[in-house]
Amino acid sequence: MILPLNEPADGPVTCSAKGCRAPAVWVLAWNNPKLHTPERRKTWLACEEHREHLSQFLGVRGFLKDVVALADWQEAEEAGP
Ligand SMILES: [Zn+2]
Repeated sequence: MILPLNEPADGPVTCSAKGCRAPAVWVLAWNNPKLHTPERRKTWLACEEHREHLSQFLGVRGFLKDVVALADWQEAEEAGP
């Protein structure tokens, strides 16, 4: 983990931004090529307010792969293999 983030837990998922307790609406899928194999996806959760901020943080480093609505992400995970 490279930033202090909220751990996903049971119950409402909250934004990964430090100090933010807002419910997450977005999933940011990212990959650090120095640490992770190309298929690996780390995820951050973001509220509406922090999506831009967190996307930029990952984007300037070239880590950001995908931004998906949380509902769609969970649906995809449940439907997954
Ligand atoms: Zn937030």
